[in-house]
Amino acid sequence: MTEVFRTIADLREEIKKARKKGLTIGFVPTMGYLHEGHLQLVRRCRLENDYTVVSIFVNPIQFGPGEDFERYPRDEASDLKKLEEAGVDAAFIPSVEEMYPEKLLTYVDVEKLSEPMCGRFRPGHFRGVATVVAKLFNIVQPDRAYFGKKDYQQLKVIQKMVRDLNFPVEIVPVDTVREEDGLAMSSRNVYLSPEQRQAAAKIYRALLKGKEAFMGGERRARVLEELVRRELERESLFKVQYVEVRDAETLEETDEIKKPAVIAAAVYVGPARLIDNIELE
Ligand code: AMP
Repeated sequence: MTEVFRTIADLREEIKKARKKGLTIGFVPTMGYLHEGHLQLVRRCRLENDYTVVSIFVNPIQFGPGEDFERYPRDEASDLKKLEEAGVDAAFIPSVEEMYPEKLLTYVDVEKLSEPMCGRFRPGHFRGVATVVAKLFNIVQPDRAYFGKKDYQQLKVIQKMVRDLNFPVEIVPVDTVREEDGLAMSSRNVYLSPEQRQAAAKIYRALLKGKEAFMGGERRARVLEELVRRELERESLFKVQYVEVRDAETLEETDEIKKPAVIAAAVYVGPARLIDNIELE
């Protein structure tokens, strides 16, 4: 049975009991509207921990003005059914008031890593993410927490926050789960019309082209970026926001790739801003 908790106090009490029994706690933070990507994190979490907590919280402070906070898809009943089937022990579904009862004056800002890529176009986004994840870690106090590589920059920001602030939690990265045609699964894919949905598969294909060129010996980051960008721009339904090749750990710019790197892209497909990435190593 998945037990639903809506208050921090109730969840803490239950986790205390689990701890007393000597159980290890695994945690999967999400914004809900769950798909196979989320469930992959949940399965991994269940394998590696005795007690699995999944949070569902659309976090207002990580959305900018004009972004999709209000229209972000939500379906609690369907989410709970999936969590039940996946054998999740606890679903933490707090209200905005429960998480932010008073004006927040304390934030976690992971410098540098938050600045390029999505950070450039979503100012304050990673500050909102790091802050809510810090709060959730303090509430759940998990042994391990699971994050998808789909949100690559987010994963790097959280890993750095955990090291810098000594959170006693192990961050476990999980590979991106894709649809059959390669499109990275995302709650936001629901925004796509059938035509846009079909086109969206070309994002990953463009990234694969970049990776192929890299495997073929191309090491110039700008050349790879241009190649992927050109590939994306062939699709008239796309509006490319960025294509960046960055160091896989520091997310710093590289000219000549000598260490593991990542190609990351953000593309508007109609109303949906979709992100994806591919690792180069
Ligand atoms: P979200 O609900 O979009 O905030 O995502 C919650 C967690 O699921 C984050 O750690 C995401 O990186 C991860 N996630 C989302 N989509 C995927 C996917 N297609 N494959 C793997 N992990 C994912």
